[in-house]
Amino acid sequence: MQEKGLLIVLSGPSGVGKGTVRKEIFSQADTAFEYSISVTTRKPREGEVDGVDYFFRTHEEFEALIRNGKLLEYAQFVGNYYGTPVDYVRQTLDEGKDVFLEIEVKGARQVREKFPEGLFIFLMPPSLSELKNRIVTRGTETEDIIHNRMLTAREEIEMMELYDYVVVNDQVDLACERIKSIVVAEHCRRERV
Ligand code: 5GP
Repeated sequence: MQEKGLLIVLSGPSGVGKGTVRKEIFSQADTAFEYSISVTTRKPREGEVDGVDYFFRTHEEFEALIRNGKLLEYAQFVGNYYGTPVDYVRQTLDEGKDVFLEIEVKGARQVREKFPEGLFIFLMPPSLSELKNRIVTRGTETEDIIHNRMLTAREEIEMMELYDYVVVNDQVDLACERIKSIVVAEHCRRERV
């Protein structure tokens, strides 16, 4: 029987650069993962192509996909729906290919419930790690600032617990290299290479 592919989920806080890292990974010739194109109700940005960047759908069409169980996960983000087509993911994994999702954190949580065996990678902004260091080792900030920073850090850390790996996005090419190395290591760990 065909060995199933690995479901790779890249997620992380808004603004961390997930899209940039994903585009860089898929621009590299040696990348062997399949990108799962998401469905969204947001309008295409200039240069974006339906079926390449996203499947652009109306609100009604998206809600029909939800009702018909066609989405592995979905979430609302800044007033629009975003979701992952479930049939594509399952079929591609069944063909033994690795599937790569680049999605926001609420969606990643849903995928974790359905695919606990997936490989979950949290992309972290470098400022948060700097922040964490500062909070832990110095404590020279005012109480208010420390409080706010701790709150933010705690929220981020709570989200991070869902993930198998954390990659700091200090430099896009380095982040891509780390992600690809993690996938190779994961295959070795699962004795599939
Ligand atoms: P953008 O509108 O900038 O392309 O994407 C906005 C956010 O939606 C990004 O954080 C991106 O990772 C996330 N996103 C893209 N596709 C999906 C998806 O299928 N599901 C979920 N939950 N989030 C998605």
